[in-house]
Amino acid sequence: MKTEVLPVTEDSIRLAGELIRRGELVGMPTETVYGLGADALNPQAVLNIFKAKGRPADNPLIVHVSCVEEIPPLVREIPGAARRLMDAFWPGPMTLILPKADCIPNEVSAGLDTVGIRLPGSEAARRFIKEAGRPIAAPSGNRSGRPSPTTAAHMLEDMDGRIPLILDGGPCAVGVESSVIDATGETPVILRPGGITPEMVKNVLGGVAVDEHVMSPLREGETARSPGMKYRHYAPKAKTVIYEGDAEHVIEAIRKRYDEAEAAGEKPAILGFDEHDFGSRVQISLGSATHPEDAAARLFAALREIDERGLTLAICEAVSMDGIGLAVMNRMGRAAGFDIEDV
Ligand code: AMP
Ligand code: MG
Repeated sequence: MKTEVLPVTEDSIRLAGELIRRGELVGMPTETVYGLGADALNPQAVLNIFKAKGRPADNPLIVHVSCVEEIPPLVREIPGAARRLMDAFWPGPMTLILPKADCIPNEVSAGLDTVGIRLPGSEAARRFIKEAGRPIAAPSGNRSGRPSPTTAAHMLEDMDGRIPLILDGGPCAVGVESSVIDATGETPVILRPGGITPEMVKNVLGGVAVDEHVMSPLREGETARSPGMKYRHYAPKAKTVIYEGDAEHVIEAIRKRYDEAEAAGEKPAILGFDEHDFGSRVQISLGSATHPEDAAARLFAALREIDERGLTLAICEAVSMDGIGLAVMNRMGRAAGFDIEDV
C-alpha cells in the first residue's frame, strides 16, 4: 500500500472522511501527537489499528469527537466532576474515562466497561472527525513501543506502507499525549499526565489525585488502572538514563557519564537545556530550562533523533515536575525504564 501525506485542505479532509467510512486508517494531526484513526464503531477497522501499530490487544484506544453533542450516545453517564472538566478544558489535551455505552466495541475499550473520550483542540482534527461523521478511535501513530510522532514525517517513518493517508497539519504544539483522567468516580484521578496539569485540574475541582504509577513502574503482579502504563513506552533503541538534582551537579555528572561512555566505545548524546554548557559534546536541545513546554514539544523528536543518528546512549537532564513538566518526566521516565539518578 502506498502511504500518501497530504496537507490539510478541504480536499484531503474529504478524502480522509471517505477512507474512514470505508473502514480504512488515517493519520491525524492533533495538538498533542499524531494519531492513527479509524471509525470507532467499526470493530474490523479498529482491529486494523492494533495490527498496524503492533499494539497489544489489552491496551484500549481513545475515542475522539468533534463536539460535545456527539458524546451522550457513546457513554452511559457524565458525572458532575467530568462535566466541570469538560467545560474548563475542552477542546484540548484531556481524555476523560467514562462508563461506556454498548455501541463502543470491546476492541476499542480492550474489554473494559469504560471508554476514553477526547475533544481535541486541533481544528484540523475536529474538521476531519466531523467530515468522517463517526467518532474516531485513535492511539498515537507510532509503532508500539516507539516514541509518539509529533510530525507527519515521524508518523510516515513508522506507518509507511501500512495506511493509505496521513494528514499533515505541521508539528504538534503540545508534543506529549493528552492527560488521561478517570472521571468515573466522584473524585477524578489523573492516570496519565499531559497538557492539562494537576494544578489546572485542582483549580477547577478544588483537589486532584494523581495515580501513583505516573512516576514509578508497576510492581510484579500489579494491574494498571491505565493499561498503557504496563508497557515499555516511548523508548529509543539507545539506552536512556536521566540525571536529576540541582543544575550544577547534574551538569557535572552528565559530563562525567558522557566522557566515560565515550571512552568505553559508546556513542552518547545529551538531551539537555540550552542554558547549560556541555562543551563540544553531542547535545540535542530540550529548549530552555525555564520553559517545560519546550521540553514537552521536543522530547519525542529528540528520542527519535538519537536512533536516526545511530547513537547508543541518551543522557537526559530531568525537567522540573511542575506544570507540564510532570508529563515530560513521565514520558522520559518510561523511555528510561525509570533509570533516574539523583545527584
Ligand atoms: P495512546 O493514545 O497510544 O497514548 O493510548 C491511549 C492510552 O489511554 C492507553 O494506553 C490507556 O492507558 C489510556 N486509556 C484509554 N482508554 C482507557 C480506559 N478505558 N481506561 C483507562 N485508560 C485508558
Ligand atoms: Mg501511544
